[in-house]
Parts: sequence; structure tokens; C-alpha cells
Amino acid sequence: MTNIFENIICVKQKIAHAAEQVQRETAQIQLLAVSKTKPVALIKQAYQAGLRQFGENYVQEGFEKIQQIQRDSDFDEPIYWYFIGPLQSNKTRLVAENFDWVQSVDRFKIAQRLNDQRPIELPKLNICLQVNISGEQSKSGTTLSQVIELASQVNSLPRLKLRGIMAIPEKTENIDLLENQFKALHNIYKKLQQCYPDIDTLSMGMSGDLQSAIRCGSTMVRIGSDIFGSRN
Ligand SMILES: *Cc1c(COP(=O)(O)O)cnc(C)c1O
Repeated sequence: MTNIFENIICVKQKIAHAAEQVQRETAQIQLLAVSKTKPVALIKQAYQAGLRQFGENYVQEGFEKIQQIQRDSDFDEPIYWYFIGPLQSNKTRLVAENFDWVQSVDRFKIAQRLNDQRPIELPKLNICLQVNISGEQSKSGTTLSQVIELASQVNSLPRLKLRGIMAIPEKTENIDLLENQFKALHNIYKKLQQCYPDIDTLSMGMSGDLQSAIRCGSTMVRIGSDIFGSRN
């Protein structure tokens, strides 16, 4: 049995500890609970423990959970939903209509569709560009050389708000290699901030590497298994 309350306390302690090591304020690092594959009952426990930001990877699954939670009166405070998975262009509408953020935008076509499909009565859709930092062919994400151009394209779309970048680094046991990737992302983030002062989100760090990510400047860690238990 996973104890979600204890897990969240433990994750928050890890965040605080990593922040302290580099003299950062814990308040500068947001915790996104990644609830993919996990039932609404567990999301409810995380909500009762105080979390309000949830990440989903699959369009249909995320949509169904959002609908279910909107009907459930136990969730009386607003929840912010983040789409963080690969997004195909034929699935953008449900995302544009139901999520608050998309952190996995890696090409202009997707951004354009999200912009066109974002309902006018909703606030702008918050966007992070996903960067493929390791250059692995199998990974989604825009390349380092393209990220500046994609940022300027996304910034020109009126129904989107460019908030920053997201990345999943190459899996490695080598801490130096890992932190070099995180540092390179931090550099791009700083460069983008010079052009777009409203950018405030460097989304990097998951259950296995949140300490390194925070040491290298992450402003949002995306934590799944350390909160909800391992996935099948
Ligand atoms: C699944 C997932 C996570 C969470 O991973 P854990 O290792 O379970 O913490 C974070 N970000 C993305 C993009 C994911 O797909």
C-alpha cells in the first residue's frame, strides 16, 4: 500500500534539501504530481495532501480524469492540469480545451493547432517547449539549434503564453553527464528569458534525478513514482 501523504512529505524534504545545498529558496521550485496511469482515487489523496498541479501523458486518459474530477464535489479548489506527453496533431483539440499547460510542444504545427483550438472563454494556454537535450533520435523534443526559432513562433500566437522549457535528459548513472545536460538546459532557459522576460519555468527533474535538476536551476520537478508508487 502506498502512503501518498508520507511520500509527498518525503519528496518535499528532498526538494528542500537539494535547494538548501545551492542556497535556493524552496518556494522557487514547484512540485508537479505526475498521475499518469494512476486512478482518480489516488489523485484525490494527493489533493488532500495539498497538491494542486497534476501532469498527464495520455490525452484520452487525462481528459477522462479531468471530467471525473470536475464532477466530484470533494475537489472544491481549482486544480491545474499539465499535459506532458507526446502530442499528435489529431489529438490537440481535447488538450486545448481541457488543460491549463502543455509542456511537450516540440514543433510549430502543434503550437498553431493548440492556439487555434484554445476556447476564447479560457485563459491563454501556458506552453513549455520540450527540448531534446541529449540529441537521441528516439526522444521527442526540439533540437538546441531550433529552440530559439520555435520560441519566437510560439510567442507570436495570441492564445498561447510561452512560459519556458521542459526536458527529459538521457538516462545515465553518471552524475556529471547528467548535470551537464541540466546545466545546458539552464543556459538555454536564461537565454530565452533575455528575449522573453515573462518566461519563468524550467521544468526538469523526475523521481530519479530531482536533486541534480534542482542543483542546476530547475523551477519545477515532475514527480510520478515517488508520489504514487511505481507504474506497471
Ligand atoms: C512519467 C513522467 C514523469 C514522472 O516520472 P517518475 O520517474 O515516475 O517521477 C515526468 N515527466 C514526464 C514527461 C513523464 O512522462
